[in-house]
Order: sequence, then C-alpha cells, then structure tokens
Amino acid sequence: MKPLLDITDVSLSYHSLSGETPALSHISFQLMPGEFLAIVGPSGCGKSTLLNLICGLLRPEQGQILLDGTPVTSGDCRIGYMLQKDHLLEWRTIWKNIQLGLEIQGNINSASTAYANSLLKNYGLYDFKDKRPCELSGGMRQRAALIRTLVLNPTLLLLDEPFSALDYQTRLKVADDIGMIIKQEEKTAILVTHDLSEAVSLANRVIVLSERPAQIAAVVPLEFEESLTPFERRAAPQFKDYFNIIWKELNHDE
Ligand code: ADP
Ligand code: MG
Repeated sequence: MKPLLDITDVSLSYHSLSGETPALSHISFQLMPGEFLAIVGPSGCGKSTLLNLICGLLRPEQGQILLDGTPVTSGDCRIGYMLQKDHLLEWRTIWKNIQLGLEIQGNINSASTAYANSLLKNYGLYDFKDKRPCELSGGMRQRAALIRTLVLNPTLLLLDEPFSALDYQTRLKVADDIGMIIKQEEKTAILVTHDLSEAVSLANRVIVLSERPAQIAAVVPLEFEESLTPFERRAAPQFKDYFNIIWKELNHDE
C-alpha cells in the first residue's frame, strides 16, 4: 500500500526583523490511509507549524510534502482542519454553519446535502440543525465543527489541540465522540496535542517531537484491542506503559 502522506526531510525557520527562529528540523514520516497519528511535543516546539505545512498554508524551506503523490497547495481541499476554537459563526444556524464550506466551494447539491443530513443524524445533532451555536454545549459545538469539516469529504483530517478549550470531563467525552466518528467515517487523521493521555487513547501511533526546532525524538506504535473506545483504552493494562514511554521521551533532557 502507498502512503497517503509522505513527508521527507522537512525543515522550516521563521524569518523576522529580529532574526531567525528555526521551528522544524529534518522531519520525515509517512502516514498510511486510515491511520490515526498523534503528534506530541513541548509547547512552542513547532507542532502547529508542522500542521500548517501539511495543509499548504506554509511552504517548507527544505524537503517535500506529498499527499497522495502530489504536493499540497495553499487551500488544498483534500485537507480538513479542526482547531481548538470551533469557529462556528454565531449568526448562522448549525445547518448553515455546516453548509458554509460547501457554499464557498459551490458544491451544494443533493449528494452533499444528503451526506450532511446523515452525519447530523448519525452523530446526534439532527434535532439541533436549526439552533444557533450558542444554544449548544461545548462538546456538541466541537462535533458540529467536525461535521462541517467532514461534509467536504477531506482525504486527510488535521486536528490541532481540538479539545484544549474544554473542561476535563467534557474533554474525555468529546475525545471519545470525535475518535468514534473519525473511525466510522474511515478518515485518516493527525492529532496534535500536548496531552499524552489523549494521544495514547486515540492514536495508532505517536510521534514525539523534541524542543524547538522540532525533530522527531521517538515514534511509538500503539496496540490496543480494535473494539476499545478511547475512554476504555485508558483502563487497558498497556495504557500506562505507553504513557511512561512517551513521558520519558519527552523529558529526556531533565
Ligand atoms: P506549538 O504549536 O508546538 O506550540 P508553533 O508551531 O506554534 O508551536 O510555534 C513554534 C515556534 O515558532 C514558536 O517558538 C513560535 O513562537 C514560533 N512562531 C510561530 N509562528 C511564527 C511566526 N509567524 N513568526 C515567527 N515565529 C513564529
Ligand atoms: Mg500549537
């Protein structure tokens, strides 16, 4: 099988009047279709920079990023991006929010409308489609944000600390929901998080980044029984072993 995403020797520095900030150094990895990869690393190490490169918002100074064999471009519609803030528009209903991307792409048709409706039904938001975002809980809003991304049928989903703004309990529940939706829709995803437990509960593989400029410090494949939900993984015996391995990799220098 060919990799969906192929990153080879990517480096990037930010340049400003006050000087150069090296952010990423010689990053290489591949992602297979259907994989759920988590990327963890210290705050400010370059995680968001890496996602911005993968989605084409930034261009690598060195190296190459191929999605399905072709370079990504700015605004590449093969990529869905989900952020910490849900960025739902308060003056639009949930339905109108979910249609926004399709509207911009000029892709509102019977197939995309049917898909949007089925996602809302399957993931418990159908009864809320005429509500405004402020009438939904934080968890429901994140689910709506994910559905807004999924209706565009992206090949690759990027999630940048999507649960960070939620309180702890909501976060566990939303991580469970989002993990389940991504699995059921058979999406390939990259989750960036500074929360090791979150990474171990959701991913098939964790990449640990070093302090800035980020380099790959370790790659940790995770093996759990297929049927476990993210929440159930937390109680599995190997959970704390994986947590400890990643913790050690992150705290190498101390
Ligand atoms: P992370 O997401 O891991 O917290 P970022 O990728 O956002 O880290 O940032 C990596 C480093 O690059 C940080 O030190 C940050 O201050 C710096 N940085 C990010 N964006 C810019 C920019 N546009 N110009 C200059 N420096 C930046
Ligand atoms: Mg970040």
